[in-house]
Amino acid sequence: MNIAIIGSGYVGLVTGACFAEMGHKVICVDSDTAKIKLLKKGKPHFYEEGLEEMIQRNMRNGRLFFSSSIREAVRKSLVIFICVGTPPKPNGEADLSYVENVSIEVARAMPSYRLIVEKSTVPVETGKWIEHTIRLNIKKKIGSRLSADRSCLSAGRSRLSADRSCLSADRFDVASNPEFLREGSAINDFFNPDRIVIGVESERAKEILKEVYKGIDTEIVFTDIKSAELIKHASNSFLAMKISFINSIARICERTGADVEMVAYGLGLDKRIGRHFLKSGIGYGGPCFPKDVDAFIHIADKLGYDFSLLKAVKKVNDEQKALFIKKIEESLWILKDKTIGVLGLSFKPNTDDMRNAPSIDIINSLKGSGARIKAYDPQAMKKAMSIFKGKWIQFCNGPYDVARGSDAIVILTEWHEFEVLDLIRLKKLMRNPLIIDGRNIFDPKKMKKLGFRYICIGRTA
Ligand code: NAD
Repeated sequence: MNIAIIGSGYVGLVTGACFAEMGHKVICVDSDTAKIKLLKKGKPHFYEEGLEEMIQRNMRNGRLFFSSSIREAVRKSLVIFICVGTPPKPNGEADLSYVENVSIEVARAMPSYRLIVEKSTVPVETGKWIEHTIRLNIKKKIGSRLSADRSCLSAGRSRLSADRSCLSADRFDVASNPEFLREGSAINDFFNPDRIVIGVESERAKEILKEVYKGIDTEIVFTDIKSAELIKHASNSFLAMKISFINSIARICERTGADVEMVAYGLGLDKRIGRHFLKSGIGYGGPCFPKDVDAFIHIADKLGYDFSLLKAVKKVNDEQKALFIKKIEESLWILKDKTIGVLGLSFKPNTDDMRNAPSIDIINSLKGSGARIKAYDPQAMKKAMSIFKGKWIQFCNGPYDVARGSDAIVILTEWHEFEVLDLIRLKKLMRNPLIIDGRNIFDPKKMKKLGFRYICIGRTA
């Protein structure tokens, strides 16, 4: 199948490369010419394990191409996946202007039937707006062509009637196919998803998408477009709710001396609850959960429903970072001129994505209190350097370099590399053996034995 991917970011690029790996012929488009220039050399603009090799393999096979032209991609493809960003507006609402722009360009470029699939995370009823926008722009295009033809005596009748037939309803379909892959395990998630959700309103669109995903062994949930759109926002909001729930339990553990890790373990064994997303820490971040929770609250408000449960999820998450900063302040007393070593900058391990990473707010707060920062992340250093600038922050070559002369180490991302540190070596390098762990990667009892003052979330030694 010939497939166009519009928006070659984290989702679009992984999806495009994986479709090519399945045997489809894929053109990935992006409006950022610098990204396309890199991609044409086989280099992704972000880190995801296995992606670079997969891109290069499929470029060599002649199944994966890159372009800056939506027109070229739409002309050559039957299925068009919209994978552009849907960032939050200041009021939390999803900004759909990228989706609208792409819909207009796709409409202008469509030579015959095309299936347009929204993969970006969008509010319920966006499919309806995409359809409306495409129809409107096809009409505009035909209108201008008809008037040009009428004014041209040499234009033949056959051209006019062909164009009129383009107005017929079956020239395109819109479908929803929300994405659930996780950065850090995106390729595995693509090929082994828990489910594929497809919202369609025509048999033709359903058959095409069945063919696109043929070979992936999972349940395909076929539903209407609005339900598919809602499944995505409901899923992310539910997962965010689990995180805020366990973080609330952690606060009760801290007040009573119970251990949140054990509570989460005992809780998660119940199949009705499940073990995943019961890890307490400094709260959720990243490019999806914060914006999707905000967007869903906004959608509900607009529909006249006060989604107070989700508002509480957001409140708990915001507090979680503030509570962690308070722990750092309480354990160091005066932050001014103290050196704080930071391990982990990306919003989660195995990615270099810094969008909405909790490290940003936490480091900026420490800077505001006059602390000096030494920081290290296995993958996100380059992106972090473009966010944090100045003499107050020193980017280091590794965790031991961070530890040298630090008054405390703060753990903000649970990279495996940190879990296997030589803690005795680390302690010797530090000015003060204090670790404040926002990800609960060590055993408090073991840390106490090693002579550390170890402060974490929801558990004590
Ligand atoms: P991203 O910012 O990494 O990628 C979006 C890309 O679209 C950018 O490269 C941008 O240059 C490009 N773009 C914008 N306008 C364009 C246009 N007119 N023509 C061509 N390209 C254009 O974003 P992302 O993380 O890939 O997310 C995309 C969507 O997928 C969002 O709605 C997001 O919520 C959703 N999503 C993301 C993830 C994730 O883990 N990142 C997971 C599931 C769903």
